[in-house]
Amino acid sequence: MKLHLLGTGAAVSDPHRTTTMLAVEQDDRLLLVDCGGDVIPRMVAMGLDPVKLDALIVTHEHADHVSGFPLLMERLWLMGRTAPLPVLGIAPAIAQVRRVHDAFDTSSWEGYPGFTTQEIALEEGAVVWSDEALHVTAAPGVHAVPTVGLRFESGGGRVLTYSCDTRPSDAITRLADGAHVLVHEATGHGPAHSSASEAADIAVAAGAERLILVHVPPEHVRADDVRAAQQRFGPTEVGSERTTYDV
Ligand SMILES: [Zn+2]
Ligand SMILES: [Zn+2]
Repeated sequence: MKLHLLGTGAAVSDPHRTTTMLAVEQDDRLLLVDCGGDVIPRMVAMGLDPVKLDALIVTHEHADHVSGFPLLMERLWLMGRTAPLPVLGIAPAIAQVRRVHDAFDTSSWEGYPGFTTQEIALEEGAVVWSDEALHVTAAPGVHAVPTVGLRFESGGGRVLTYSCDTRPSDAITRLADGAHVLVHEATGHGPAHSSASEAADIAVAAGAERLILVHVPPEHVRADDVRAAQQRFGPTEVGSERTTYDV
């Protein structure tokens, strides 16, 4: 399984980081998670073919996770995609996707692919996607709005968990149980987010092998907390923008 970090920043972050977006690839499956920034240039820069996307998963309704959707669809149309893009998400996230999409009238765009939707239940163990290559389940995080973390299991038994935006959450800890890679947000301690140290504590509790921090704020806020996180959980690193990780 491959994890492609298309973006790693918080809503406000270092100049070289865009919003946190990732793609997960296994065999010929390619799933995109969130689209708060300009997805397609990042995908192309990493050698991924956006036209071949199997689905987009939207974790929650915030702008830094869904606002790039109309541009994603416009670019897919211009790049020649004709098949509708499946969009998977909890109800409020799907509703937001519809609203931002419907701000643009695409009715006269000949051959426009459009999209289909599939609602994810807001409960632990909710199945998001399942085939021979990837089995994806969700669990609710604790954030300012309803949100879900995601667990990707490959046919070969490798496990990747992504926390999405959340403060430390027991459900997300369970979602990360035994993960080979845990991608956890590290915006900073607060009612809706987690610090790097808190993410490290989650990695320890879940028995994860490796922790990659995303949704990171600017450098000067981050450095001390990252060092503290590494003292709690050694294999902790800050996610590297436009980088592919083997899971
Ligand atoms: Zn959020
Ligand atoms: Zn966010």
